[in-house]
Amino acid sequence: MRIGFGYDIHRLVEGRRLILGGVEIPYIKGLDGYSDADVLLHAVCDALLGAAGKDDIGIHFPNNDPEFKGISSVELLKRVAAIVVREGLKIVNVDSTLVLEEPKLMPFKKRMRDNISQALGIPEASVNIKATTQEGVGAIGRGEAIAAYAVASVERAK
Ligand code: MG
Repeated sequence: MRIGFGYDIHRLVEGRRLILGGVEIPYIKGLDGYSDADVLLHAVCDALLGAAGKDDIGIHFPNNDPEFKGISSVELLKRVAAIVVREGLKIVNVDSTLVLEEPKLMPFKKRMRDNISQALGIPEASVNIKATTQEGVGAIGRGEAIAAYAVASVERAK
């Protein structure tokens, strides 16, 4: 068994949609970025790439390549799953934590889990999403950004 870790952070700005875990969430701001800036899926991508020993998301999907401008991060996650499988590995589970002050994610977590489990081809029970606030501390606490952490485990495919 191998494990991988991922981290990402994106700024919250006006005039962008807020996409987390492939779900559009109604909010006054959205995350800034070259793709859809889905910070959760980016952290999950990096955790999986880490577990497979395959570099990071910026290497595979450079943010100066027009192919990836505005791309859905669900598509990036599917491509990462394919990279992991090509390495002869099977994805076992993913756990993640979003760090944000607002909005409340409870109503959306089920759909976010569904999206990740479908993109990775693993059961929903093998995908976990947690959310916590930054208790008002620092940039995330002021609502200027959202961060995400993720870990993934993989095993040799039989
Ligand atoms: Mg990112």
